[in-house]
Amino acid sequence: MIVIKIGGAAGVGFERVCDDLAPRIIAGERIVVVHGGSDETNRLAERLGRPPRFITSPSGHTSRRTDAETIEIFQMACCGAVNKRLVRELLSRNVNAVGLSGVDGALWRGRRKHAIRAVEDGAVTVIRDDYTGTVDRVNADLLRTLLDAGATPVLSPPGLSEEHEPINVDADRAAARTACALGAHTLIILSNVPGLLRAFPNESSLVPEVARAELDSAEELAQGRMKKKVLAAREAIEGGVARVVLADARVDNPVSRALEGRGTVIA
Ligand code: ADP
Repeated sequence: MIVIKIGGAAGVGFERVCDDLAPRIIAGERIVVVHGGSDETNRLAERLGRPPRFITSPSGHTSRRTDAETIEIFQMACCGAVNKRLVRELLSRNVNAVGLSGVDGALWRGRRKHAIRAVEDGAVTVIRDDYTGTVDRVNADLLRTLLDAGATPVLSPPGLSEEHEPINVDADRAAARTACALGAHTLIILSNVPGLLRAFPNESSLVPEVARAELDSAEELAQGRMKKKVLAAREAIEGGVARVVLADARVDNPVSRALEGRGTVIA
């Protein structure tokens, strides 16, 4: 069992990833696909006249300000636009892809953060109307039922809060949770960089391997959104996944290359 998270940043083409995935799935490999929708959310928000806003936590992490209107836009972008695009790419390659968001079947259940601390103009403020959260539980039975029936689940945020609200969950971390819940041996996180770079953005500074004991220093190396990927890798490894590969989606055969260990391997 493999879980593959596909990034949505510039340069990532679904076609190439699907060209590589389809023959594996048709040959019988059990694969669950996860994606995010950050870039599509930004584009849609701009088009709707609601430019995206980001907040910074006191510890320096940046995240999307997800008010009631933004969670609607986020949902439209992730499971309306991106999910259906990916499902169609797979269907056109004879893969029986089934798109689901974390809301469907309560697939990704978690807590909504009711109070978020953010730094604004040097002062810490508390935001109480945000729809952000983390995945605590995965409906693995539903995924197994689909896989047993020969379907390939294609999963997308948002998640579902305990109060049945949609919540903005990080797709990398949701993929890690999913891999743990399914007992996957490998989690592949594809994005528009070759993996964790020692000196970002110098692509020849790839860190080929991170041992479990080195995860703390790896988290320090990563900035911005790469931090979440290293955190997701840690959660996957701690949850029993044998190997996580952070790899490049912009190349031919990105999945096969990642499985060969080309990228940053965390084991
Ligand atoms: P996706 O949308 O594909 O999930 P993200 O954009 O969230 O990917 O995360 C990947 C980004 O992380 C890279 O495009 C890069 O800008 C950033 N990044 C920051 N620090 C590093 C680093 N040390 N190594 C690699 N990428 C990094």
